[in-house]
Amino acid sequence: MPIMPSVIDAIGNTPLIRLNAVSEATGCEILGKAEFMNPGQSVKDRAALYIIKDAIQTGALKPGGTIVEGTAGNTGIGLALIANALGYRCVIVIPETQSQEKKDMLRLAGAQLVEVPAVPYRNPNNYVKLSQRLAEQLNETEPHGAIWANQFDNVANRQAHIETTAPEIWSQTGGEVDGFICAVGTGGTLAGTAEGLRIRQPKVRIGIADPEGAALYSYYKTGELKAEGSSITEGIGQGRITGNLEGLEVDEAHQIADKDALPFVFDLLEKEGLCLGGSSAINIAGAVAMAKSMGPGHRIVTVLCDYGNRYQSKMFNPEFLASKDLPVPSWLGRKVEMTI
Ligand code: PMP
Repeated sequence: MPIMPSVIDAIGNTPLIRLNAVSEATGCEILGKAEFMNPGQSVKDRAALYIIKDAIQTGALKPGGTIVEGTAGNTGIGLALIANALGYRCVIVIPETQSQEKKDMLRLAGAQLVEVPAVPYRNPNNYVKLSQRLAEQLNETEPHGAIWANQFDNVANRQAHIETTAPEIWSQTGGEVDGFICAVGTGGTLAGTAEGLRIRQPKVRIGIADPEGAALYSYYKTGELKAEGSSITEGIGQGRITGNLEGLEVDEAHQIADKDALPFVFDLLEKEGLCLGGSSAINIAGAVAMAKSMGPGHRIVTVLCDYGNRYQSKMFNPEFLASKDLPVPSWLGRKVEMTI
């Protein structure tokens, strides 16, 4: 690997890791793209970089300007780090329900946080809409102006995955990839990677893994956006067709319950040393469902979106899990007795 001129150049080119237990159980090779190895420790660094580069190119983002975004956390972490590296300011509007670890990381990265109540998208005070209004206000008052990153509808997000994630998967697998599946937050990862892979191999099977409480499973099955249930996962679970999802066709859709997904992540940590967040659990459960529908002998790629330490106080907390009636892994909180 060459010397990198800046941390920005370390975004992308993440490893593709074989997930052994699920591969053996399904007879398929299930591979995870290790996006937690990006500098901001999530898949969203790619979108953040493309959004900022695009805003610089169009002239919307002026030197010293402010980047404003509504984010569940990971996009904000990426934006904040890249903003520091390139000399911009970053202001993040975040629903207060998001994990403390992500909020702490955002502050650590120098972002200014505006925590707001979590309300549905149709409410005018939804965090995404508030971030747009804040960007408009700051554009008037900040000396170098402000832009709204708009990750949900700004297709620079999807472009990042068309131009980086998909070609990386293609070259890492030597073009031998039968299926790709992941969950949707903005849809940039799924739609962009699907497009980039289909350009190279039109027959590659594309699937969506939707958590409970999201409306896309119903949309791709019946054409109707309908949500039921809820999920403790963060950063995924979409209720509308975002700009980044427009035009996407999927070959299969799966709805995945937390109680079925989380054990994959608990087992991966205990038996394979991989520490992942909740959206990765939905993705891996989706890959297993795709393996079952395709049959043995196929190679399926999914996304390991972020690292588990971002959720230590929630999905790796026995009390929190028990309070949500979710399975608690036996190794969590295991104690050693020592006589001194
Ligand atoms: N997992 C996590 C942890 C995320 O933060 C996000 C982004 N919100 C996603 C998955 C989904 O990625 P995308 O926005 O590209 O659909």
